[in-house]
Formats: sequence, structure tokens, C-alpha cells
Amino acid sequence: MKKLISFMMALLMIVTVGASTKVDAKSNPVSFSKKYITLNVGKSTNMKSFLKNAGKSKVIWKTSNSKVASVSGNGVVRARKAGTATIRAYVVKTKKTVSCKVTVKKVTKQTKKSGRYRTMRVKCTAYCPCRGCSGGYGTRTASGRRAIAGRTIAVDRRVIPLGSKVVIDGHTYIAEDTGVKGRTIDIYMNSHSKTNQWGVRYKTVKIYY
Ligand SMILES: [Zn+2]
Repeated sequence: MKKLISFMMALLMIVTVGASTKVDAKSNPVSFSKKYITLNVGKSTNMKSFLKNAGKSKVIWKTSNSKVASVSGNGVVRARKAGTATIRAYVVKTKKTVSCKVTVKKVTKQTKKSGRYRTMRVKCTAYCPCRGCSGGYGTRTASGRRAIAGRTIAVDRRVIPLGSKVVIDGHTYIAEDTGVKGRTIDIYMNSHSKTNQWGVRYKTVKIYY
């Protein structure tokens, strides 16, 4: 009886070891760690870095659309123009093909611009179209545009160029008027009571250029 039990135990161990080896092989198949990637036009990336468990096997790289995303023999993908392409990697050793979808985005100048800003600590005052505030200019501004509350601010153009977008308390204004000196921003408001309510405040603002 004892012999039989130890035989059964040994058999069980073999089965268990066999099974776990199989599981390991299955849980580590060749794959891409990313199913989708996004690249800007002109950028490139090495797809090899996303290819898992290929070991030292030879890999044959293919693209579904070389005009959108080309791929070199070493797996370097280059984004050519906006669109989508599928990159396929054929792993010779395992005879398996894995794929990854590449979305190529066109970079617009505006998105590049909107990211660049500097911060500045400024004195913030407010003005309205009344004679006392505007000196008789009313809603006419130095830029030629009519002043609009929530958009127009007056600046010293040697500190903040006219046309700059300036973010104050999370709201974006445009430097459209002048009449203040140095690190001061005058915010255009509709009524004199609103300018009184504002008074003088010190703010750290973002100036986009
Ligand atoms: Zn006023």
C-alpha cells in the first residue's frame, strides 16, 4: 500500500511539473506589449522594444501602409503622414505573427504654440469705457479691435506683446490695449462698478507666445 501511494505521489508530481511547464510556455507567447501606438508625423519608434518573448529569433517586419507608417528591417517605424497602419511582426522561430496598430497624427502649428508660455507675477487692475478709465477712448483699443469684457486686457507692450494670450485665474484674455506701465495688466470690464469691485489684485499669470 505504501509503495502504491509513493508511486501515485511520484506520478502526481510528474503530471504537476509537466502541466506547469506547459502553462509557462502558454503564458509567455510572443506579443506586443502595446496594441495601439500614436506617433506624430516625422517621429519614429523602435517596435522591438514593445515585442515581448521573441528572444533572439529573426523577425520579419511589415506594414499595411508604408505611406502612413514605414517599418525598417530592424523594426523601426517612421510616421510619414496622418492615418492608420498596422505593423506586423512575423517571428520566424515560433511562426507567429503579432500586430500593432499605429495612428499617425499631423502636428498643427497651433498645438505647438499653445504649449509654450511663461509665468509672470503681475499687478492686476481693471478699467471700463468711462471717460475716467479710458481717457475718452471708450471701447477703442490700441490694437484697433473693440474692447470686449472677458477678452480684452491692456498691457505694457514692452513687457507683454500685443496679441499675446494671457491666462488669469484660468481664463484666457488677449492683450489688445495699452495704457499701463511695466508688470501691470488692466482688465477691461463693462461697468465702472465692476472695476471698483475688482480693485487691485496681484496674480501669477501665464503668457502664451
Ligand atoms: Zn470706469
